[in-house]
Amino acid sequence: MNLDNIRIVLVHTSHPGNIGAVARAMKNMGIGKLSLVAPRQYPDEQANWRAVSAVDVLESAIVTETLEDAIASCQFVVGTSARGRRIPWPLLDPRQCAERIAPATGHGEVAVVFGREDRGLTNDELQLCNLHLNIPTSEDYSSLNLAMAVQVVCYELRMLKVFPGLPTRDAEQWDTPFSNSENMEHFYTHLEETLVDLEFLDPAAPRQLMSRMRRLYSRVRLDAMELNILRGILTQTQKWVTKARKQ
Ligand code: SAH
Repeated sequence: MNLDNIRIVLVHTSHPGNIGAVARAMKNMGIGKLSLVAPRQYPDEQANWRAVSAVDVLESAIVTETLEDAIASCQFVVGTSARGRRIPWPLLDPRQCAERIAPATGHGEVAVVFGREDRGLTNDELQLCNLHLNIPTSEDYSSLNLAMAVQVVCYELRMLKVFPGLPTRDAEQWDTPFSNSENMEHFYTHLEETLVDLEFLDPAAPRQLMSRMRRLYSRVRLDAMELNILRGILTQTQKWVTKARKQ
């Protein structure tokens, strides 16, 4: 587990105090990379006040306009959610997630994404992720305070660093780097265009097709070479569709 390759991403946080509390929760566990997607009120004195001795985490935080920008260079993305969604994604608890994150940190950056205090993450945002993390709670009240949720997740990541258990085999021994989020987004755009060209996807009634395609490919995790091959197949398919139309 390389904690330096973990990036905590907060989406549209309303309360600067929560941002400060997140910085503290992270630093306590030895995690220092923070990204803030369009925070409502930031920088702010309340954030510094709640961060206490973790102001350095705030000072080095990266602020972006969109979630896509924040995770562009990440090879593995985990979204957190307090409740189940319409298209169920692979859903793990923080301990299981830490076990998936640990080998991924050997290769490149991993993002763990947290949502808005009032509404969490949108379905579109969750669909940018490889895995979904849910902290098991009482059925009576499933929504934790944002910084508390970050604390639980960072604690499990730290525990796995301190007590690594048996070495994980899969991803650590992969020969080609995994695709990052930015390239995956280009692929999904290209796939969608091609499916429209083929008249397999009707833009007027797309249903859940692209969500299901996203779920499929994020479950597999494409490496850079596999992604290039698929892009090549799409380009060739589009060429043939154009040719066939001319005839
Ligand atoms: N009402 C929102 C909850 C937002 S809580 C909703 O129903 O989605 C703010 C953020 O804290 C969430 O977006 C998530 O990132 C995190 N969080 C809170 N409770 C959580 C839980 N039980 N499991 C995982 N993440 C949680």
